[in-house]
Amino acid sequence: MSDIGRDANAGGGATAHDGVSRRSVVKAGATAGAAAVAGAVTAPAVAAAHHGTAHHGRATRPADSLILHNGAIHTMDSRGTVARTVAIRDGRIVYVGGSEKAARRLFPEPPRSIDLHGRTVIPGIIDCHNHIVLMGNRPGRHTPLENAYSVADVARTYAARARSVPPGEFITTIGGFHFNQFAERRLPTLSELDEAVPRHPAYISVGFSGPSVTNSLGKAFFEQAAEPVTVGADGAIAAGLETGKATLALRRTLTFEQRKRGVRDAMAYAASVGVTTHLDQGAFQATGTPADGAAHEDNYTMHLPFLAVYADGEASIRLRINFLHMDTDPALPGLTERLRNAFPFFGDDLVRTGGIGEFIAAGLGPTWLEAARRVAAAGWRAEVHSLTTTDFQTEIEGFEAVHAQTPITGLRWVVAHVPFITREYVDRLHALGGGVNLTGWRYLTGTATSAGPPFRMIVDSGIHAGMSSDGMQIAPMNPFIHAYYAVTGRNALGEVINAGQQITREEVLALYTRRNAWFLGGPDEDQLGTIEVGKLGDLVVLNRDYFTIGVADLRQVRSVLTVLGGKVVHSLKG
Ligand SMILES: [Zn+2]
Repeated sequence: MSDIGRDANAGGGATAHDGVSRRSVVKAGATAGAAAVAGAVTAPAVAAAHHGTAHHGRATRPADSLILHNGAIHTMDSRGTVARTVAIRDGRIVYVGGSEKAARRLFPEPPRSIDLHGRTVIPGIIDCHNHIVLMGNRPGRHTPLENAYSVADVARTYAARARSVPPGEFITTIGGFHFNQFAERRLPTLSELDEAVPRHPAYISVGFSGPSVTNSLGKAFFEQAAEPVTVGADGAIAAGLETGKATLALRRTLTFEQRKRGVRDAMAYAASVGVTTHLDQGAFQATGTPADGAAHEDNYTMHLPFLAVYADGEASIRLRINFLHMDTDPALPGLTERLRNAFPFFGDDLVRTGGIGEFIAAGLGPTWLEAARRVAAAGWRAEVHSLTTTDFQTEIEGFEAVHAQTPITGLRWVVAHVPFITREYVDRLHALGGGVNLTGWRYLTGTATSAGPPFRMIVDSGIHAGMSSDGMQIAPMNPFIHAYYAVTGRNALGEVINAGQQITREEVLALYTRRNAWFLGGPDEDQLGTIEVGKLGDLVVLNRDYFTIGVADLRQVRSVLTVLGGKVVHSLKG
């Protein structure tokens, strides 16, 4: 595959537009020196990679070489540089400029060079708060429905999926979408699913705990489960206990190999929507009962199938792992052992541990405050989430109390989601060196009174801010859906619910790339988020020009080519 211009749909040509005209286009000559410097920078990392193990967390696999030329390469650097050519050598960017010839001179034997035919390129997107580890551990052949806009789209998506799944195996969708996004505002029915996938049992479940729906083959399975599920004649399974029983019945069938397959599928989906780095924020600890919802898993084993896929050399994304702790015991046994026995920022450039989050303890009382004290004393990063009109106050006041004893400036403490946060508390968190992690999850089910976050106020405040999906239960992973919400303030029903808080698409992309590097912390702050010499070679070639298409089309942006460390990990041509 050397030419991606021919098969794709609209938006291929590079045209002058507002986004580009304000930016400088790098001249080839200006970057030759920088490229030479980068060669020196990358050499130790390459040597480490060749010894087969991660040295000081700086090794990178994959570490391939590639040149992309004739593109509109939005580097997202602090100067807004747009270049025509980028070269990656052994996993790292060695050239950003205008001349393919100059790029080729940096290689003794030039690698594959791809003509982009003017396509838009952006850095690999960083999702600094999601739950891809849950997605990888889903039972059945989990099939994202976040890009379906009608029941007919669901049927098409399922029929397409069925072509690569042996008959009799479950095709599932657990979370990540809502029927508000379908024109019919309802789930498909049993007969519609029978028609779409007549030879496969199907199970579609909304949010954390339903409602859900199945088809005839699925109905037979669920009704014969150890804890039989009540399924309506139309395939409907009620939210709560019945959905819990159905999800549990499926989880009981999961093997380790199936989890690994789910991991590869989740990674492949992520690459298809351009998300190359994921900061996972854990799960609610599974109980193995029908009380478990879509967000429950075993926090102590759920990473293992991911680590196995990394060990196999089959990973197509970077994973960063936060450890979620919800101790109710004031002695904080779980958190205490984690801080004693684990390492923050341990791993390599593909998979690495992070901090504690998105919970540090249950509740927001004295036990939570003690947890915050211990995380600070251990020098770890912490992330908590805010969903109500008052919890952010308790959290930020708690951070201030901890800070008075153990300074947290520099530890990258974060409050996520923040739908109702006020400027006063943003400024107080800013003063502590903290950050807020913004999500467009209100898109699916938000209303005028359950909207936010106040994107505009936060971006204007100057606090460290980043963008994330909080997928895969109550929100989609696809960053372009979140971009649509942040730019328009419109929910899935098309109603403007976040009026006055919209930000521009350029601001959204900066949050999702350059500004998200801060949230990754550790060595990632200097090596991800922009297309610059010396950084890891992660970038995404888009099917449309993100910067000029109509806002309604933002949700249709996809990757036609995703590159991770110089290796093509997603291509529409395969
Ligand atoms: Zn979350």
